[in-house]
Amino acid sequence: MADIVGIDLGTTNSLCAIFRDGQPVLIPNAHGEFLTPSIVGILDDDQVLVGAAARELRVTRPERCQSTFKRHMGSDRKLKIGDKTFTAVDLSSLVLRSLKVDAEAFLGRRVKEAVITVPAYFNDLQRKATRRAGELAGLRVRRIINEPTAAALTYGFHDRKSDKKLFIIDLGGGTFDVTLLEVFEGSLEIISTAGESFLGGEDFTDRLAATVLKGQGLELEAAEMKSPLLVSRLRQECELAKRRLLDAEEAVIRLPNSRGLIDEGAKTVTLTRQEFATVVQPLLDRVKGPIGKTLRDGRCEPADLEDVILVGGATRMPAMRKFVADYFQREPLCRFNPDEVVALGAAVQAALIADDAAVEDMVMTDVCPFTLGVEVGKEFAMRHMDGYFMPIIHRNTTIPVSCERDVVTVSQNQQEMTIRVYQGEGRRVQDNLLLGQVKVTGIPNGPAGQHVSIRFTYDVNGILEVEAFLPPNGKKFTTVIKNNAQDLTEDEVEATLARMRELKFYPRDDVVNQRLLLFAEKAVGEVSQYDRESLEEALDLFEVSMASGDRVSFASAREGLLMVLASLGVHYDGDVGATDAEG
Ligand code: ADP
Ligand code: MG
Repeated sequence: MADIVGIDLGTTNSLCAIFRDGQPVLIPNAHGEFLTPSIVGILDDDQVLVGAAARELRVTRPERCQSTFKRHMGSDRKLKIGDKTFTAVDLSSLVLRSLKVDAEAFLGRRVKEAVITVPAYFNDLQRKATRRAGELAGLRVRRIINEPTAAALTYGFHDRKSDKKLFIIDLGGGTFDVTLLEVFEGSLEIISTAGESFLGGEDFTDRLAATVLKGQGLELEAAEMKSPLLVSRLRQECELAKRRLLDAEEAVIRLPNSRGLIDEGAKTVTLTRQEFATVVQPLLDRVKGPIGKTLRDGRCEPADLEDVILVGGATRMPAMRKFVADYFQREPLCRFNPDEVVALGAAVQAALIADDAAVEDMVMTDVCPFTLGVEVGKEFAMRHMDGYFMPIIHRNTTIPVSCERDVVTVSQNQQEMTIRVYQGEGRRVQDNLLLGQVKVTGIPNGPAGQHVSIRFTYDVNGILEVEAFLPPNGKKFTTVIKNNAQDLTEDEVEATLARMRELKFYPRDDVVNQRLLLFAEKAVGEVSQYDRESLEEALDLFEVSMASGDRVSFASAREGLLMVLASLGVHYDGDVGATDAEG
């Protein structure tokens, strides 16, 4: 049986899992960690770094890195690294490629197929973009599944005999999703889902950074333009503070200087847990909307739920837990690590696709998270008004689904019609998202009011196909939704592939050392002047021996550098194999 890996391609962190010996297991990366930061960096010699080493590079050379690009999936936005430009698809493909290489090292075989998760609220363009990123990374994408659904699969897999309603809340780095589902004797039925694609833990960090800067009389955006190094380092400090507040009542944030360095005399700001909660209250308020909508759509009250499950790193924040506990009047459940549960569920989905005996009693059905339809005109007295939205597939319909509705011609002998396809809940199309259009030609002459049938097919991957038929002769117009760069011609695909193939990857065996090197380089500017020399000496030796290829002297140089760092009280956590290297 071919291996199908399950991949959680996250805004902040990505993970890869595989189903083996009857259960899902996580695959470690080159650092021995399960979480690979979704960060891509390019070194001066043009070698590509992905993950923890790129995260180190981002602190000192933000212009050589890109992160949180998942937020731009499905758009044409160009993202620069040095003198190269990428799309979010390109960068995601580099992350996927890195996970694929790790999986191959772990399994000792080639990996060619994957199940990739996406936020439930990802639209058609974002899903197609994700599939394209997989293809660019050399993976056949067997299925795209919703992240909360994947989380539900992990819980469902381990608790098959139960019969209950569950509510899943997934707050990751950049997206927020909630899902209501029912488990009944091994079958998992998703009832309703909602979310926001621009709300996540990164926004909490940003709000904190903005507040700290404001205290210094600075605006976040202006500061970012003027001193990008200061802001990138401050973000890292705020991220640490946010995490420290998990078990501390207060956290100290050190202010970097304009070169992004935190030296001995750095100013500090102290933040209490309560102050943090106040700062992020506006974000917590936004969490309520999708929760209420999902419960209403599923005709469910908080009291009908058996469990409320938290997923995503940002649900670790005490402020978020408290909010959930107050809303649902019970303590949320977190049986599995919130960072890992989505990837594990993707591996369970892979087992379902591969007909693994361990999941033969499991069935899962998902829903379409938003309403899909077309633009129509309406007649009012003598006036024709365009711009109204006619739903064809209503939100939270179980998928796969195929629905058909007719539209009519508006004038005599009208021979052509353009059908614009939208997603959203607005009554008017201007409030919804345009997904693409189909042109219908060859409508036979006749009076106004001739019918054209439109069929929407929404598949299990959440990808929409649109067909238009002319009922008299049955002529069919299939529609590939064309909107922007997502739908490339074959030549363009080839050109992108060639461009990506040209990139040189930093050798996997050495990324652990590259990460240490970048970390130590940052420390050089921060230790006191008296310690700087000894650190530089150890660092020079390490760098030279890294290049020399002499394993023995290299090992001792590495040991030496780690010892010097430790003696200076600089804590390097890249060597402990922790999954949470930022904390
Ligand atoms: P994604 O799926 O979007 O990649 P994750 O589920 O990995 O995101 O969550 C990442 C987010 O969780 C980040 O914004 C990070 O700041 C936040 N996070 C992780 N651990 C903690 C913690 N202990 N306290 C607060 N926030 C955390
Ligand atoms: Mg996630």
